[in-house]
Amino acid sequence: MCINSCAAFVGPYADYDMCPECGQHRFDQIKFTKSNGRIKNPRAVFHTIPIGPQL
Ligand SMILES: [Zn+2]
Repeated sequence: MCINSCAAFVGPYADYDMCPECGQHRFDQIKFTKSNGRIKNPRAVFHTIPIGPQL
């Protein structure tokens, strides 16, 4: 998801490299550039927690 939590890169945004809302890069640009685009390390990941174990 976006580092500013404004969008998740799923569905129509799955192929986006930058946030459609704030323009922040999706991936860690240092690792991305050093690896010539091979390492796409997301800057933020949205974790969904199953509701069952919480109850
Ligand atoms: Zn954003």
